[in-house]
Amino acid sequence: MTMRRLWPLLLITLAAGGVWVLQSQPRPLPTRPPLEVAATLAQAVTHPEPPGAAPLLEALRADLQVHRQLIVLFANESNLVGSGLERALAVGHRLHHERRDLVHQLNGALTRLAKEPAPQRDPVIGALLDWMEADPDLLELDRLAFRDSLRVLQKPLQADPTPAGAQLNRRLAQNLRESDRVEALVDAEYQRVFGGPGASARGGQRDRWQAYVTELQKRIPLGPLIMGAAIPRPAEELKGSREINGTELPEKVLILTFDDGPHRVYTEEIKAILQKEQVPAVFFEVGRNLGAQDASGKIKLSHLADLTEDLVKSGFLVGNHSYTHAQLSKETGAPLDLEIRETDQLLRAIPGAHSQLFRFPYGARTKVQLQALEPYHLRSVLWNIDSLDWADPVPSSVADRVLKVIAHEKRGIILFHDIHDRAGKVLPILIPKLRAEGYRFAGLDAEGSLLLAGQP
Ligand SMILES: [Zn+2]
Repeated sequence: MTMRRLWPLLLITLAAGGVWVLQSQPRPLPTRPPLEVAATLAQAVTHPEPPGAAPLLEALRADLQVHRQLIVLFANESNLVGSGLERALAVGHRLHHERRDLVHQLNGALTRLAKEPAPQRDPVIGALLDWMEADPDLLELDRLAFRDSLRVLQKPLQADPTPAGAQLNRRLAQNLRESDRVEALVDAEYQRVFGGPGASARGGQRDRWQAYVTELQKRIPLGPLIMGAAIPRPAEELKGSREINGTELPEKVLILTFDDGPHRVYTEEIKAILQKEQVPAVFFEVGRNLGAQDASGKIKLSHLADLTEDLVKSGFLVGNHSYTHAQLSKETGAPLDLEIRETDQLLRAIPGAHSQLFRFPYGARTKVQLQALEPYHLRSVLWNIDSLDWADPVPSSVADRVLKVIAHEKRGIILFHDIHDRAGKVLPILIPKLRAEGYRFAGLDAEGSLLLAGQP
């Protein structure tokens, strides 16, 4: 079986709440791809971990595997130009897409787990933490992959005042501190080599990071990885489509955009930073995070929709980022229409959240997809400054990439994501630095017109 065919199996397991009934085989072999291990779960009969831990462990392993693959893929980013970069981006977008589906289910399962009574909850969370802390297959820098899951678990648990809850919270906090420590090490290393805010570059090598990358390259050969199906970014001429593109902004004007949310933890964190800095932004949200429509057309909003309402109440703009984050350049007709319409209707159901802005996942669209926006009076919004925050776990490296592209473009729409912690780490560095260089942060209104503070 191929990796791609196995993803749905794992996702169905998580989505169906099978987390609580599945049993696992004895310790999975770390040399096998995580998804192959996942596929055997349904037939397994014995369980050394508490029942319930196995599918979550498999999902965490699969998530780690994609994290590692992305690092291998972009390991030589500075040498990636032209078609090489296009190819890495295409494969990276596919991996990112598969990981998104996985993480969507995983976050839901972790949140449900954190709300279970202690006798069910504690052994399962204990088994997950045991794995993160002690599995011999893990590398020190793998810790960078766990923070998002730890934060999702921590959020509902923080409200638990019982001794068992306090104990779990202490252990989660300890693991998060360990992730912070590792991140600080690789971040300081990056700054030492390339220079950071207020520091000059000393050159040399990123030894710790490079040792990690070298080990991953041994485990994950690049060749087979980039042989995967590519997502082409359509290059055909799309002028005259009312599409908004950052390259057309006035010089020294930037617009911040955050895609794929809302997220249980990070959307609020990013909102707080933007409010403190008084910077506008657009959040392009994935409809299935917000809720669903039943067969009779009745809208049922999820609790994440509250975060969207908070965003608009705080003056931020929200746009449509499709319902399932599908690659829409492959879709036509009714399925394409549904991806647009479902999210359009969900956003209309949240007071103040509807706008005319639409962002195609991966920017993948042709004239056919642009025409499909017309009945809804939606405008496509692209970006010209990609932070690659979904592929790069080192904050200084993400910030540096954004600054370099801005120095080249002089204006533009910046793409971040509010589904992991990177944007929240780099914004407090980037915003003051860019302002000091004379850049202004603008917003868009609900029709897509530029909103520039201090301008009529
Ligand atoms: Zn997206």
